[in-house]
Amino acid sequence: MRALYKSGPHAGLELIDLPEPAPAPDEVKIRVLTTGICGTDLHILNWDAWAASMVTAPLIPGHEFYGEVVATGDLVRDVRVGDRVSGEGHVVCGTCRNCRAGRRQLCIRTVSVGVQRPGAFAEYVVIPEENVWVHPPPDDPKHNSNQVITPELGAIFDPFGNAVHTALKFSVVGEDVLITGAGPIGLMAAAVVRHVGARYIAITDVSTPRLTLAEQMGVDLTVDASCSSIAWAYAELGLKEGFDVGLEMSGHPEALPEMIRNMNHGGRIALLGLPNAPIDIDWATVVTHMLTLQGIYGREMFETWNAMAAMLSSSPWLHRTISSVITDVLPATEWERGFRIAADGRSGKVVLDWTVFA
Ligand SMILES: [Zn+2]
Ligand SMILES: [Zn+2]
Repeated sequence: MRALYKSGPHAGLELIDLPEPAPAPDEVKIRVLTTGICGTDLHILNWDAWAASMVTAPLIPGHEFYGEVVATGDLVRDVRVGDRVSGEGHVVCGTCRNCRAGRRQLCIRTVSVGVQRPGAFAEYVVIPEENVWVHPPPDDPKHNSNQVITPELGAIFDPFGNAVHTALKFSVVGEDVLITGAGPIGLMAAAVVRHVGARYIAITDVSTPRLTLAEQMGVDLTVDASCSSIAWAYAELGLKEGFDVGLEMSGHPEALPEMIRNMNHGGRIALLGLPNAPIDIDWATVVTHMLTLQGIYGREMFETWNAMAAMLSSSPWLHRTISSVITDVLPATEWERGFRIAADGRSGKVVLDWTVFA
Protein backbone atom coordinates (compact mmCIF):
# COMPACT_ATOMS: atom_id res chain seq x y z
CA MET A 1 0.00 0.00 0.00
CA ARG A 2 1.00 3.65 -0.41
CA ALA A 3 1.76 5.34 2.93
CA LEU A 4 3.27 8.55 4.26
CA TYR A 5 6.23 7.38 6.31
CA LYS A 6 8.53 8.87 8.94
CA SER A 7 11.56 6.63 8.57
CA GLY A 8 13.41 7.78 11.68
CA PRO A 9 13.84 10.52 14.31
CA HIS A 10 14.36 13.44 11.90
CA ALA A 11 12.36 16.03 9.91
CA GLY A 12 10.41 15.08 6.78
CA LEU A 13 8.01 12.42 5.50
CA GLU A 14 8.06 10.28 2.36
CA LEU A 15 5.30 8.65 0.32
CA ILE A 16 6.40 5.03 -0.11
CA ASP A 17 5.12 1.45 -0.52
CA LEU A 18 4.67 -0.57 2.67
CA PRO A 19 3.05 -3.94 3.41
CA GLU A 20 -0.67 -3.78 4.27
CA PRO A 21 -1.37 -4.23 8.00
CA ALA A 22 -3.28 -7.32 9.20
CA PRO A 23 -5.87 -7.07 12.00
CA ALA A 24 -5.31 -8.89 15.32
CA PRO A 25 -8.34 -10.93 16.55
CA ASP A 26 -9.88 -7.86 18.26
CA GLU A 27 -8.99 -5.40 15.48
CA VAL A 28 -10.54 -4.04 12.31
CA LYS A 29 -8.80 -3.28 8.99
CA ILE A 30 -10.05 -0.10 7.33
CA ARG A 31 -9.51 1.11 3.77
CA VAL A 32 -8.77 4.79 4.30
CA LEU A 33 -10.77 7.12 2.04
CA THR A 34 -9.98 10.52 3.60
CA THR A 35 -7.70 11.94 6.31
CA GLY A 36 -7.49 15.27 8.10
CA ILE A 37 -4.16 17.05 8.60
CA CYS A 38 -3.73 18.08 12.25
CA GLY A 39 -1.29 20.29 14.15
CA THR A 40 0.10 17.06 15.60
CA ASP A 41 1.04 15.93 12.07
CA LEU A 42 2.89 19.21 11.48
CA HIS A 43 4.91 18.61 14.67
CA ILE A 44 5.72 15.09 13.42
CA LEU A 45 6.68 16.37 9.95
CA ASN A 46 9.04 18.98 11.43
CA TRP A 47 10.31 16.69 14.23
CA ASP A 48 10.29 19.44 16.87
CA ALA A 49 10.91 18.92 20.60
CA TRP A 50 7.33 17.75 21.21
CA ALA A 51 7.57 15.17 18.41
CA ALA A 52 10.95 13.96 19.60
CA SER A 53 9.54 13.41 23.11
CA MET A 54 6.19 11.83 22.12
CA VAL A 55 6.57 9.98 18.82
CA THR A 56 7.83 6.47 18.22
CA ALA A 57 9.66 6.49 14.84
CA PRO A 58 9.65 4.84 12.36
CA LEU A 59 5.95 5.61 12.02
CA ILE A 60 3.02 6.13 9.67
CA PRO A 61 1.42 9.31 11.13
CA GLY A 62 -2.22 10.39 10.75
CA HIS A 63 -5.07 9.97 13.24
CA GLU A 64 -8.04 11.80 11.68
CA PHE A 65 -9.69 9.54 9.12
CA TYR A 66 -12.79 8.09 7.49
CA GLY A 67 -12.90 4.82 5.61
CA GLU A 68 -14.56 1.51 4.86
CA VAL A 69 -14.06 -1.69 6.87
CA VAL A 70 -12.49 -4.39 4.66
CA ALA A 71 -11.58 -7.10 7.21
CA THR A 72 -12.31 -7.95 10.85
CA GLY A 73 -10.46 -10.15 13.38
CA ASP A 74 -12.10 -13.33 14.73
CA LEU A 75 -13.18 -11.72 18.02
CA VAL A 76 -14.84 -8.67 16.40
CA ARG A 77 -18.57 -8.71 17.16
CA ASP A 78 -20.35 -5.51 16.14
CA VAL A 79 -18.33 -3.93 13.31
CA ARG A 80 -18.92 -5.41 9.84
CA VAL A 81 -17.10 -5.44 6.53
CA GLY A 82 -18.52 -2.58 4.44
CA ASP A 83 -19.24 -0.30 7.42
CA ARG A 84 -18.29 3.36 6.89
CA VAL A 85 -16.31 4.44 9.94
CA SER A 86 -14.13 6.99 11.70
CA GLY A 87 -11.74 6.05 14.49
CA GLU A 88 -11.10 7.18 18.06
CA GLY A 89 -7.33 7.63 17.99
CA HIS A 90 -6.71 7.02 21.69
CA VAL A 91 -6.18 3.32 22.35
CA VAL A 92 -6.57 2.73 26.09
CA CYS A 93 -5.31 -0.08 28.33
CA GLY A 94 -8.60 -1.28 29.84
CA THR A 95 -7.05 -2.16 33.20
CA CYS A 96 -5.84 1.06 34.91
CA ARG A 97 -8.03 2.60 37.60
CA ASN A 98 -9.71 5.11 35.28
CA CYS A 99 -10.31 2.54 32.53
CA ARG A 100 -11.89 0.14 34.99
CA ALA A 101 -14.09 2.98 36.28
CA GLY A 102 -15.34 3.65 32.74
CA ARG A 103 -13.39 6.90 32.42
CA ARG A 104 -11.36 5.72 29.47
CA GLN A 105 -10.38 9.21 28.27
CA LEU A 106 -8.36 9.47 31.51
CA CYS A 107 -6.36 6.26 30.88
CA ILE A 108 -2.84 6.52 32.27
CA ARG A 109 -1.44 4.36 29.43
CA THR A 110 -3.11 5.86 26.35
CA VAL A 111 -1.40 4.98 23.06
CA SER A 112 -2.25 7.27 20.12
CA VAL A 113 -2.88 6.17 16.55
CA GLY A 114 -0.41 7.91 14.26
CA VAL A 115 1.80 8.95 17.18
CA GLN A 116 2.85 5.75 18.96
CA ARG A 117 1.19 3.15 16.70
CA PRO A 118 0.75 3.05 12.88
CA GLY A 119 -1.62 5.76 11.69
CA ALA A 120 -3.99 6.56 8.86
CA PHE A 121 -1.85 8.40 6.28
CA ALA A 122 -1.96 5.19 4.23
CA GLU A 123 -4.36 3.20 2.11
CA TYR A 124 -5.12 0.94 5.09
CA VAL A 125 -5.10 1.31 8.87
CA VAL A 126 -5.84 -1.20 11.65
CA ILE A 127 -7.44 -0.20 14.99
CA PRO A 128 -9.18 -2.10 17.82
CA GLU A 129 -12.90 -2.71 17.30
CA GLU A 130 -13.69 -0.67 20.43
CA ASN A 131 -12.08 2.39 18.79
CA VAL A 132 -14.27 2.23 15.68
CA TRP A 133 -17.16 4.69 15.28
CA VAL A 134 -19.66 3.39 12.71
CA HIS A 135 -21.48 6.05 10.69
CA PRO A 136 -24.94 5.54 9.19
CA PRO A 137 -24.61 4.18 5.62
CA PRO A 138 -24.19 7.07 3.15
CA ASP A 139 -27.27 5.90 1.20
CA ASP A 140 -29.48 5.41 4.30
CA PRO A 141 -32.98 6.50 3.17
CA LYS A 142 -33.81 7.62 6.74
CA HIS A 143 -31.35 10.50 6.42
CA ASN A 144 -31.80 13.78 4.61
CA SER A 145 -29.05 14.26 2.07
CA ASN A 146 -27.80 17.28 4.03
CA GLN A 147 -27.29 15.12 7.10
CA VAL A 148 -25.16 12.38 5.56
CA ILE A 149 -21.63 12.03 6.93
CA THR A 150 -19.57 12.68 3.80
CA PRO A 151 -16.03 11.26 3.57
CA GLU A 152 -14.72 14.79 4.15
CA LEU A 153 -16.86 15.35 7.26
CA GLY A 154 -16.03 11.84 8.52
CA ALA A 155 -12.33 12.70 8.27
CA ILE A 156 -12.66 15.47 10.87
CA PHE A 157 -14.66 13.65 13.56
CA ASP A 158 -11.53 13.46 15.73
CA PRO A 159 -10.93 17.25 15.90
CA PHE A 160 -14.69 17.93 15.91
CA GLY A 161 -14.70 15.69 18.98
CA ASN A 162 -12.02 17.89 20.60
CA ALA A 163 -14.25 20.89 19.90
CA VAL A 164 -17.40 19.22 21.25
CA HIS A 165 -15.63 17.89 24.35
CA THR A 166 -14.23 21.37 25.13
CA ALA A 167 -17.43 23.28 24.26
CA LEU A 168 -19.66 21.00 26.36
CA LYS A 169 -17.34 20.71 29.38
CA PHE A 170 -19.26 23.50 31.11
CA SER A 171 -22.85 24.54 30.56
CA VAL A 172 -22.97 27.46 28.12
CA VAL A 173 -26.75 27.85 27.91
CA GLY A 174 -27.47 31.57 28.21
CA GLU A 175 -23.81 32.26 29.05
CA ASP A 176 -21.31 34.69 27.51
CA VAL A 177 -18.46 32.69 25.98
CA LEU A 178 -14.94 33.78 25.06
CA ILE A 179 -12.95 31.58 22.67
CA THR A 180 -9.24 32.31 22.18
CA GLY A 181 -7.96 30.80 18.91
CA ALA A 182 -9.94 30.44 15.66
CA GLY A 183 -8.10 27.48 14.19
CA PRO A 184 -10.30 24.63 12.95
CA ILE A 185 -11.08 23.36 16.47
CA GLY A 186 -11.82 26.84 17.85
CA LEU A 187 -14.11 27.47 14.87
CA MET A 188 -15.99 24.22 15.43
CA ALA A 189 -16.27 24.92 19.16
CA ALA A 190 -17.83 28.31 18.34
CA ALA A 191 -20.47 26.61 16.19
CA VAL A 192 -21.21 24.10 18.95
CA VAL A 193 -21.68 26.71 21.70
CA ARG A 194 -23.96 28.67 19.34
CA HIS A 195 -25.92 25.48 18.64
CA VAL A 196 -26.40 24.63 22.32
CA GLY A 197 -27.57 28.12 23.33
CA ALA A 198 -24.85 30.52 24.42
CA ARG A 199 -25.82 34.22 24.60
CA TYR A 200 -22.79 36.17 23.31
CA ILE A 201 -19.77 34.51 21.70
CA ALA A 202 -16.50 36.38 21.11
CA ILE A 203 -13.56 34.72 19.38
CA THR A 204 -9.97 35.93 19.03
CA ASP A 205 -7.21 35.16 16.51
CA VAL A 206 -4.46 36.98 14.62
CA SER A 207 -5.47 35.57 11.20
CA THR A 208 -7.97 37.64 9.19
CA PRO A 209 -9.08 34.68 7.02
CA ARG A 210 -9.78 32.62 10.13
CA LEU A 211 -11.74 35.47 11.75
CA THR A 212 -13.78 35.71 8.52
CA LEU A 213 -14.49 31.97 8.78
CA ALA A 214 -15.51 32.54 12.41
CA GLU A 215 -18.27 34.91 11.31
CA GLN A 216 -19.90 31.94 9.54
CA MET A 217 -19.88 30.01 12.84
CA GLY A 218 -22.49 32.33 14.32
CA VAL A 219 -20.18 34.28 16.64
CA ASP A 220 -21.24 37.75 17.75
CA LEU A 221 -17.81 39.35 17.71
CA THR A 222 -14.44 38.56 16.16
CA VAL A 223 -11.40 40.08 17.83
CA ASP A 224 -8.10 40.56 16.01
CA ALA A 225 -5.73 39.81 18.87
CA SER A 226 -2.87 41.58 17.07
CA CYS A 227 -4.55 44.99 17.49
CA SER A 228 -7.55 44.64 19.86
CA SER A 229 -7.86 43.48 23.43
CA ILE A 230 -10.39 41.20 25.08
CA ALA A 231 -11.31 44.15 27.30
CA TRP A 232 -12.40 45.98 24.12
CA ALA A 233 -14.54 42.99 23.12
CA TYR A 234 -16.06 42.92 26.56
CA ALA A 235 -17.11 46.57 26.26
CA GLU A 236 -18.25 46.14 22.66
CA LEU A 237 -20.69 43.39 23.70
CA GLY A 238 -21.94 45.47 26.63
CA LEU A 239 -20.84 42.92 29.22
CA LYS A 240 -20.89 44.27 32.75
CA GLU A 241 -19.19 41.57 34.79
CA GLY A 242 -17.06 39.48 32.44
CA PHE A 243 -17.26 36.28 30.41
CA ASP A 244 -18.86 33.27 32.07
CA VAL A 245 -17.13 30.50 30.12
CA GLY A 246 -13.74 30.58 28.37
CA LEU A 247 -12.44 28.09 25.81
CA GLU A 248 -8.67 28.41 25.36
CA MET A 249 -7.89 26.83 21.98
CA SER A 250 -4.61 28.53 21.00
CA GLY A 251 -1.91 27.51 23.45
CA HIS A 252 -0.54 31.03 22.94
CA PRO A 253 1.27 32.34 26.05
CA GLU A 254 -0.75 35.60 26.11
CA ALA A 255 -4.19 34.04 25.64
CA LEU A 256 -4.81 32.38 29.00
CA PRO A 257 -3.54 35.28 31.19
CA GLU A 258 -5.73 37.74 29.26
CA MET A 259 -8.70 35.40 29.43
CA ILE A 260 -8.30 35.11 33.20
CA ARG A 261 -8.35 38.92 33.52
CA ASN A 262 -11.70 39.09 31.70
CA MET A 263 -13.74 36.36 33.38
CA ASN A 264 -16.67 36.94 35.73
CA HIS A 265 -16.30 35.69 39.29
CA GLY A 266 -16.89 31.96 39.26
CA GLY A 267 -15.98 31.78 35.56
CA ARG A 268 -15.11 28.40 34.08
CA ILE A 269 -12.28 27.88 31.60
CA ALA A 270 -11.72 24.77 29.49
CA LEU A 271 -8.19 24.50 28.07
CA LEU A 272 -7.50 22.55 24.86
CA GLY A 273 -4.69 24.63 23.28
CA LEU A 274 -1.34 23.04 24.06
CA PRO A 275 1.31 25.60 25.13
CA ASN A 276 4.88 24.77 24.11
CA ALA A 277 6.38 26.38 27.23
CA PRO A 278 5.27 27.21 30.81
CA ILE A 279 2.81 30.14 31.03
CA ASP A 280 2.79 32.82 33.74
CA ILE A 281 -0.64 33.09 35.35
CA ASP A 282 -1.92 35.53 37.96
CA TRP A 283 -2.97 32.88 40.46
CA ALA A 284 -4.25 35.51 42.91
CA THR A 285 -6.95 36.38 40.37
CA VAL A 286 -7.79 32.69 39.91
CA VAL A 287 -8.21 32.38 43.69
CA THR A 288 -10.08 35.59 44.46
CA HIS A 289 -12.32 35.37 41.39
CA MET A 290 -12.93 31.67 42.19
CA LEU A 291 -12.22 30.51 38.64
CA THR A 292 -12.26 26.90 37.48
CA LEU A 293 -9.57 25.76 35.02
CA GLN A 294 -10.07 22.39 33.34
CA GLY A 295 -7.63 20.72 30.96
CA ILE A 296 -9.15 18.84 28.02
CA TYR A 297 -7.41 16.15 25.99
CA GLY A 298 -9.08 13.99 23.38
CA ARG A 299 -12.72 13.01 23.50
CA GLU A 300 -14.91 11.23 26.06
CA MET A 301 -15.27 7.62 25.02
CA PHE A 302 -17.77 7.57 23.69
CA GLU A 303 -20.20 10.16 25.01
CA THR A 304 -18.50 12.87 22.92
CA TRP A 305 -18.94 10.70 19.81
CA ASN A 306 -22.61 10.21 20.62
CA ALA A 307 -23.06 13.96 21.03
CA MET A 308 -21.26 14.68 17.73
CA ALA A 309 -23.37 12.26 15.72
CA ALA A 310 -26.62 13.32 17.40
CA MET A 311 -26.05 17.06 16.99
CA LEU A 312 -25.01 16.74 13.32
CA SER A 313 -27.98 14.54 12.46
CA SER A 314 -30.51 16.78 14.21
CA SER A 315 -29.25 20.20 13.07
CA PRO A 316 -28.89 21.00 9.36
CA TRP A 317 -27.29 24.33 10.41
CA LEU A 318 -24.61 22.64 12.49
CA HIS A 319 -23.99 20.04 9.77
CA ARG A 320 -23.57 22.76 7.16
CA THR A 321 -21.45 24.96 9.44
CA ILE A 322 -19.07 22.22 10.60
CA SER A 323 -18.70 21.04 6.97
CA SER A 324 -17.72 24.60 5.99
CA VAL A 325 -14.67 24.42 8.27
CA ILE A 326 -13.12 22.10 5.64
CA THR A 327 -11.55 24.63 3.26
CA ASP A 328 -9.17 22.41 1.25
CA VAL A 329 -9.51 18.83 -0.12
CA LEU A 330 -6.45 17.54 -2.00
CA PRO A 331 -5.43 14.17 -3.45
CA ALA A 332 -3.01 12.41 -1.09
CA THR A 333 -0.33 12.62 -3.79
CA GLU A 334 -0.30 16.38 -3.06
CA TRP A 335 0.31 15.85 0.65
CA GLU A 336 3.21 18.33 0.72
CA ARG A 337 0.98 21.14 -0.53
CA GLY A 338 -1.67 20.08 1.99
CA PHE A 339 0.80 20.26 4.86
CA ARG A 340 1.95 23.71 3.67
CA ILE A 341 -1.64 25.00 3.61
CA ALA A 342 -2.31 23.56 7.08
CA ALA A 343 0.88 25.15 8.42
CA ASP A 344 0.30 28.69 7.16
CA GLY A 345 -2.45 29.34 9.74
CA ARG A 346 -4.85 30.98 7.31
CA SER A 347 -7.01 28.01 6.27
CA GLY A 348 -9.68 25.92 7.92
CA LYS A 349 -9.29 22.15 7.90
CA VAL A 350 -7.22 20.45 5.16
CA VAL A 351 -8.35 16.96 4.05
CA LEU A 352 -6.41 14.46 1.91
CA ASP A 353 -8.21 12.04 -0.43
CA TRP A 354 -6.59 8.57 -0.44
CA THR A 355 -8.84 7.07 -3.14
CA VAL A 356 -6.41 8.42 -5.78
CA PHE A 357 -4.35 5.23 -5.44
CA ALA A 358 -7.27 2.83 -6.03
ZN1 LIG B 1 -5.79 15.77 15.32
ZN1 LIG C 1 -6.15 2.56 31.15
